[in-house]
Amino acid sequence: RPGSRRASCRIGPTVCRQVSMSTENPVVKAIADALSHVNDPEIKRPITDLNMIDEITVDEQGRAFVRILLTVAGCPLKTKLREQATEAVRSVDGVTSVSVELGTMTDEQRDALKVQLRGDVPERVIPFAQPGNTTKVIAVSSGKGGVGKSSVTVNLALALAQLGREVGLLDADIYGHSVPDMLGLGDAHPTPLDDMLLPVPGLGIKSISIGMMKPNKSDVIAWRGPILDRALTQLLADVHWGDLDYLLIDLPPGTGDIAMSLGQKLPNAEVLVVTTPQQAASEVAERAGTMAGIMQQRVLGVVENMSWLEVTAPKSRETFRVELFGTGGGQKAADALSERLGTTIPLLGQIPLDVELRSGGDDGDPIVITHPDSPAAEAITELAKTIDARPRGLVGINLGVQPVSH
Ligand code: ADP
Repeated sequence: RPGSRRASCRIGPTVCRQVSMSTENPVVKAIADALSHVNDPEIKRPITDLNMIDEITVDEQGRAFVRILLTVAGCPLKTKLREQATEAVRSVDGVTSVSVELGTMTDEQRDALKVQLRGDVPERVIPFAQPGNTTKVIAVSSGKGGVGKSSVTVNLALALAQLGREVGLLDADIYGHSVPDMLGLGDAHPTPLDDMLLPVPGLGIKSISIGMMKPNKSDVIAWRGPILDRALTQLLADVHWGDLDYLLIDLPPGTGDIAMSLGQKLPNAEVLVVTTPQQAASEVAERAGTMAGIMQQRVLGVVENMSWLEVTAPKSRETFRVELFGTGGGQKAADALSERLGTTIPLLGQIPLDVELRSGGDDGDPIVITHPDSPAAEAITELAKTIDARPRGLVGINLGVQPVSH
């Protein structure tokens, strides 16, 4: 405001503590000191050390203004951060009122932060993203939870292994991370080897779960931004996957941070969409299409799960199918996606409902291993064969298909 003298400290990319030391105004310096006791709720380090303070201003009346840069715009913990910063500044002698504004870091600032968090250790390369890498990366997604995405991913991985392929399974579903239980791995943790991690072997595949990165099994993962990004990079680059024919990734339902992060890291991945006959085709296509757009990746195809239940009549022993959740949803979703993406997206398989599939998931005894002759296991094995039979030249290569909006 004209006429009022204000002491301000514009901190920018340098470390706040150092700049505040050089400022003449003792109140600004005291505010910077107070803010050095406020931790970023996610990264759990002082916001001053993380270069998150953009500006500190105090006018003659002691009215303080602080601008803090968040790592990501939609940071769910921003209210908490604002409250803590406000409280810290309010406690400073000479401050009569506090206004805390929240902004967002630029890409450059975020990159600088990632480097800082990593220390001097250079970022490892992700083998699957290197030119000439022949691993086919398949990211399994669904529009919503509960459609059987994880069950299909786990059993598909095992079916591919039964065909003689080397298979890795990465459970990136931060909300569900049910893969270890479905594989019967319990509390297994990856084994450290030098500065790498060995994925957990079991049932003929190698797997690792984002849930294994938590200090305690019961912890809820609330990672976002650089921390989430770092965890995913670690799961891809710091894990000794070896030579894989397939890497299957169990994505969280819907679209979001993980899809975006993985899209950048694995530009050659393909997306497999799991749906049910019941789910609205337009909704599935909308979500999956948006996600393929975010990830800039090809959609491999659609799998319809829970397609029917095979029942046997008690007297005649005749078997027939009951379509509990309706019919045709998978094909409709494939058609809607084809239209949206401007390219043919096939319905790659239909998997029936099967009590053994459910109980096998609960008990850690997957159906393709325990009941390979059941209709559901056979459908999954057929799906694995269809995926594996695709011409090698095209598999895993980004064909540059961009979503078309209608
Ligand atoms: P999502 O990963 O989409 O949330 P899950 O794979 O965890 O779904 O499956 C949700 C529940 O449905 C689990 O209890 C699972 O065992 C069960 N389920 C999934 N597919 C089938 C199926 N084809 N037949 C019977 N139960 C199934």
